[in-house]
Amino acid sequence: MRSEEEEVRDGGPGWVARISGVHFPVTVLGPGRRLGIWFQGCPLACAGCMSRHTWDSAGGRAWPVAELLALWRQALAAGAEGLTVSGGEPLAQPAALARLLAGAAGARGAADADLLLYTGYTEAEIAADEARTLAVGGADALVTGRYVAARATDLVWRGSANQRLVPRTPLGAARYAPHLTRRSGPRALQIVGRGGALALYGVPRPGELDALEVELGEVGVGLTDPSWRV
Ligand code: SF4
Repeated sequence: MRSEEEEVRDGGPGWVARISGVHFPVTVLGPGRRLGIWFQGCPLACAGCMSRHTWDSAGGRAWPVAELLALWRQALAAGAEGLTVSGGEPLAQPAALARLLAGAAGARGAADADLLLYTGYTEAEIAADEARTLAVGGADALVTGRYVAARATDLVWRGSANQRLVPRTPLGAARYAPHLTRRSGPRALQIVGRGGALALYGVPRPGELDALEVELGEVGVGLTDPSWRV
């Protein structure tokens, strides 16, 4: 008989999340080298979203939470300074997200690796829904709110000026206080070759995607089906 603590630590049998992708190390979505996990499925449909490939809730792949937590433990052993969960909309799968964050908090032990969650919902929308409230309970910090293309910003790790970086725990406050009003550098994107395609991680500065496409074109690399024009 497994204890409840063991169940949470391991994600529990049968707990599965629909996931768009994972990557380590991610260096552009929170402080330090991080494990990135992107949930699949988003009902919010922000105009100008750069991740339209994550909208379809039937896309991506089913991924046991226990396996995601195993990746988190591997990343911690490799020196990960945090976990960033993004999407898609993670709160569209609140039960699996709650399991993932609770398990990730348990697995980090005494390490001060923080858990950062991106969501398109506002704090008020989260507070108004019990499942969402429970799901964000394990996060040290949130980035909240829809992407609004008309409100471009260079605030680090946010795509538009309405989005808020919200520390929720003492660890979150300590790690994110230096970044609440910090501006991103000239390049906010991390580019990784993956399976014959280019994967872009991060929150682009205003105009960065267009500039990148031009630069790639100048060296003979054309983009087919970029995720912001799907
Ligand atoms: S920006 Fe985020 S919340 Fe908005 S449609 Fe894209 S994935 Fe969904």
